[in-house]
Amino acid sequence: MNRAVFLDRDGTINREKSYLAEPEALELLNGVPEALRSLQDHGFLLFVVTNQSGIGRGFYTERELKAVHDRLVALAAESGVVFRRIYYAPETPDEPTCGRKPSPRFLLNASKIYRIELSRSYMIGDKLSDLQCGWNAGVRKSILVKTGYGSQLLSRPDIDLSRAQIAENLTEAAEYILSDSSSMTDRRRHEKLNA
Ligand SMILES: [Mg+2]
Repeated sequence: MNRAVFLDRDGTINREKSYLAEPEALELLNGVPEALRSLQDHGFLLFVVTNQSGIGRGFYTERELKAVHDRLVALAAESGVVFRRIYYAPETPDEPTCGRKPSPRFLLNASKIYRIELSRSYMIGDKLSDLQCGWNAGVRKSILVKTGYGSQLLSRPDIDLSRAQIAENLTEAAEYILSDSSSMTDRRRHEKLNA
């Protein structure tokens, strides 16, 4: 079985820009290619899971979104990083959901197609709906990055983030995943030895 890291796009991988529709406006955050590469080198499959209600709202088309994603794929490829798939939900919040986070639908689909063990996988994002998406899918940990809207969310005393892991940015999130997953492997090995 495979392990995966599911990544929100805006504010997590690239700089948050409201309704980004121009490929040239896509700007990876500092350290992102290296962080993704290290996760990939440790055997994690990488997926992007993004809400793109700008399509449902008529701000941009699926074709324009594809151009943005082509650039994202090209920038990642410069560091040898491959996204197994980029899932996007084009609907607005009031339309019936086709996978819009916090729906776990894309993660559940990916787990079947790519044989992913969700309980050993992770979700990273900058919004509550990202964290909830991971929890709804049963991932090992949802990680909130402080980039994008993340620091705003942290300043909300009414929202319980005790189940989430907090990271400054994707670099720190990747470091957490690598250390958490190796301690999990050690523990499993230990349990086997003592069984
Ligand atoms: Mg985001």
